[in-house]
Amino acid sequence: MTRRIGILTSGGDAQGMNAAVRAVVRTALDRGAEVYAIYEGYQGLVDDGDYIRKMDWDSVGGILQLGGTIIGSARCEAFRTRDGRRQAAKNLVKAGIDGLIVIGGDGSLTGANIFRQEWPGLISELVERGEISAEEAAKYPNFSIVGLVGSIDNDFSGTDMTIGTDSALHRITEAVDAITSTAASHQRTFVVKVMGRNCGYLALMGALACGADWVLIPEAPPDVENWQDVLVERLRAGRKAGRRDSIVILAEGARDRNGNYIGSSDVQRLLEEKLEEEVRVTVLGHVQRGGRPSAFDRNLSTLMGYEAVNTILSAKPEDEPVVIGIRNNRMTRLPLMESVRKTQAVAEAINAKDYERAMSLRSSSFRDAFNTFKTMVRALPHPIDPAKKRFRIAVLNAGAPAPGMNTAGRAAIRLGLDMGHIMLGVRNGFEGLIDGDMEEMNWMSVSGWASRGGSMLGTTRHVPKGRDLYAIARAIEDHRIDALLIIGGWTAYEAAYGMLKERPNFPSFNIPMICLPASINNNLPGSEFSIGADTALNSIVDAVDKIKQSAVATRRCFVVEVMGHYCGYLALMGGMATGAERVYLHEEGVKLRDLQVDVEKLLSGFQSGKRLGLMIRNEYANPVYTTEFMCALFEEEGRDVFDVRPAILGHLQQGGDPSPFDRVQATRLARMCLEYLIEQCNKKEYNSAFIGMEKGQIHFHDMRDFDRMIDAEHQRPKEQWWLELKSIATLLAKPGSQTG
Ligand code: ADP
Repeated sequence: MTRRIGILTSGGDAQGMNAAVRAVVRTALDRGAEVYAIYEGYQGLVDDGDYIRKMDWDSVGGILQLGGTIIGSARCEAFRTRDGRRQAAKNLVKAGIDGLIVIGGDGSLTGANIFRQEWPGLISELVERGEISAEEAAKYPNFSIVGLVGSIDNDFSGTDMTIGTDSALHRITEAVDAITSTAASHQRTFVVKVMGRNCGYLALMGALACGADWVLIPEAPPDVENWQDVLVERLRAGRKAGRRDSIVILAEGARDRNGNYIGSSDVQRLLEEKLEEEVRVTVLGHVQRGGRPSAFDRNLSTLMGYEAVNTILSAKPEDEPVVIGIRNNRMTRLPLMESVRKTQAVAEAINAKDYERAMSLRSSSFRDAFNTFKTMVRALPHPIDPAKKRFRIAVLNAGAPAPGMNTAGRAAIRLGLDMGHIMLGVRNGFEGLIDGDMEEMNWMSVSGWASRGGSMLGTTRHVPKGRDLYAIARAIEDHRIDALLIIGGWTAYEAAYGMLKERPNFPSFNIPMICLPASINNNLPGSEFSIGADTALNSIVDAVDKIKQSAVATRRCFVVEVMGHYCGYLALMGGMATGAERVYLHEEGVKLRDLQVDVEKLLSGFQSGKRLGLMIRNEYANPVYTTEFMCALFEEEGRDVFDVRPAILGHLQQGGDPSPFDRVQATRLARMCLEYLIEQCNKKEYNSAFIGMEKGQIHFHDMRDFDRMIDAEHQRPKEQWWLELKSIATLLAKPGSQTG
């Protein structure tokens, strides 16, 4: 019997829901199942069969880039009652649906769980009432449920991210960056209120990403009774130290230790009175739910939708319902009810004013971020402890610019100063180090760097060799450098590895060194995400969205060329996020016969009504079959059926202000790098390492392993985790079908 599954979106909408719906529909069709969308959430399920509509491949075309949910969402009182749920069960039986994928928040998932538990009872009642036949009832003894968490608050226990959170953070950082520039012009203070009733994730990560001065979150109210005085003092000291703007970010559920809510106007009044200056309030509200989904949300939702279908199709009737989550950068299946219970436990702890417990229920990265934030926002560093040894730590950028380099530099410099060390900023990468071009940084020299793209220190691709090494050895001695933090891409790693190998010849290289991965190419070993890659991915997605819009009325195929050197990360993830029907990667190679097949599929697709084609090509996918060659080939073969345009995205991919993810990761990695260097200095050791995030955990790799972990010829890691996603991207966008 062909399986029939339903999908609905419920509760507050979240960007990325459409990508999940698309992935569910297409994966289910690919697996031979039928899929029905239930419009308007549980309301559509309760009301009648008209809201239950069969979906086909094209009914979810072109929706990846849309915010909200095309199948509608609603809050439904009737579904909270048994009568309502019985009606829902009847509509499902009549439609022949035996499993449901629900995308919503903890409320919607609780509802789904109750529904599943009651199912056998509801079915018997329907038979007793004569609303369904005994044969119909016999076909549906159980009902399968799989949940996806659509919630911009990131408030669901067991998953690192929920659908919509990253896009909401984009909205918040865009808004706060804009406010910061106007606040700085007028020397003003702004209070920005963001969503999050029981979860301070958006407020905290927004504050960390934007370099705000203070944050108020529900889980961790200010730990002193006179927090108002502390806040005022802090902002005043910041002004004295030279800050032109002050930003306070407040979660909507923020409260004090006694459980009293702190409203934005309370903070406004307080600051106006005490600081005697104008204080403006911005309540971001629904802006945070709106707008186009970020690249991350599109891909997260896509992977979750794919996993949900596999889960529901392989579930046994007696299996407990699960929620699809992401843990440590991998899909995971969580027990639905237990996760809902844990999620609600945070809210209960907050309501019971047990803030220690609320914080302990949050992830360790949340707690780390909070502690880091508290240091970063100090108006001035802690006074220097004369008993402690002060080290001289040099920070430099190397390689091509990557958005987030400045964020990392700022974090390292401020955290280093706060711990009492002397932080040296090296200008223009290794060229600057060769020339001894560096200066002692102070607290305010990195002000405003959190949100700035490019490289404030300056960066070059120069890899030191031969005589350069003598000059570097001299600079390290002259400036008495105790440790080196290198923020950059392949060049940075190559240079650090080179210095390590030269240690026998240059004893002054016997200092601890660490590389922090910053490259849009995401081609560094020991790191699943390098800083800048997420920003570049978003730039690609923005550009491709616009390119697609430009072609609405013509039959046109675009060949979009993206950066990455020999690493296809940007091409594949960009392709998945934009619904490209073909992605060309160097890792897989490009063969003429593949191109022939592609062109034939394009031809037959356009002949049967397709209007747009989208192919994404990594810049070095093949040295002979270049973008130009491919366009010429497609154009010639496309004859008068379709035309072809190249779009070489170029340097826009390296520019732009860093995305919230890149800012948060840059700060986190910088802190860990600095701690590593200081520990080495204290132990009088001089190991050399590179840091990175793998499977969600931060790891330090010995620099000696660099060679072993890379494919040197193609300047990429031997193992690339994202390659396994290729088959999913291919499944969801078939060449020749409607693009998107
Ligand atoms: P969210 O899913 O975003 O948390 P809500 O809590 O408003 O949003 O829930 C959305 C819908 O899910 C509700 O309008 C209702 O139809 C259903 N729902 C929520 N909680 C329950 C429950 N305890 N029992 C049955 N249905 C529920």
